[in-house]
Amino acid sequence: MTVSLLGAADIRRLAAELDVTPTKKLGQNFVVDANTVRKIVHAAGVQAGERVVEIGPGLGSLTLAILETGASVTAVEIDHRLAERLPETAREQGVPDGALTVVDADALRVTELPGDPQVLVANLPYNVSVPVLLHFLETFPGIARGVVMVQAEVAERLAAKPGSKIYGAPSVKAAWYGPWNLRGTVSRQVFWPVPNVDSLLVGFERDAQPRGSEDERRRTFEIVDAAFNQRRKMLRQALSGLFGSSAAASAILESAGVAPTARGEDLAVDDYHRVALAAG
Ligand code: SAM
Repeated sequence: MTVSLLGAADIRRLAAELDVTPTKKLGQNFVVDANTVRKIVHAAGVQAGERVVEIGPGLGSLTLAILETGASVTAVEIDHRLAERLPETAREQGVPDGALTVVDADALRVTELPGDPQVLVANLPYNVSVPVLLHFLETFPGIARGVVMVQAEVAERLAAKPGSKIYGAPSVKAAWYGPWNLRGTVSRQVFWPVPNVDSLLVGFERDAQPRGSEDERRRTFEIVDAAFNQRRKMLRQALSGLFGSSAAASAILESAGVAPTARGEDLAVDDYHRVALAAG
């Protein structure tokens, strides 16, 4: 059975049928170009037989491109009208029974997923892209890799290395799970409606071994948040609230091998993890 992808006319027809006007609130910018969805699937290296999770399938453009490879998809969509229509769209476009499971839910609140997914592929709603990514990485350890399309600044931040201006709390938290890198550009013209920001593809590979326990992760993220809340201050100052005083912060930083005069943007995720361990 061959799966056929949706074109611009199909997207508009489906939206009209469902009486859907894309909303900013839900970050609804639908991809209307088959080459773009194929490019995303290719960047993610999706293979036949793999189990993929998609966040925000919308009208199904990207979903069908994933299914076209012979992979199965679990798709989590918050908009009931879209979630309800998707299985029918899949059938109409030639998707075999059982290949698609739709979860009608807020991705930020999902704690269980059918299908035990291995790969994350999504054109993420821009307003929640970082929290939703971190939630999925934390909640579903079976997700071993992924590629997502996000606002260009967010993609750059996720892939940023220590020392750069855009390096921030999301960069460190994302790096907790493994390396991230940019995977390509996307034109604004492939979306309906055309957004007023640029988009980029960014991908990750989860480390084979978790960096630390769940408790260590939580404590590390607390330190990261405190460090970047006052990113221009030296760490002994920025962490003084969290550790009781700037003298106590200096002692912990020194025992972790980190200069108390360093700033949050100088530290890699390993350094933050060592500080969390030294803080006990
Ligand atoms: N994948 C489709 C495409 O590429 O055309 C749609 C992408 S659109 C940028 C984002 C989608 O995420 C929309 O369908 C929107 O309804 C959905 N969405 C927004 N917030 C969500 C959430 N918290 N949980 C699940 N889906 C969400």
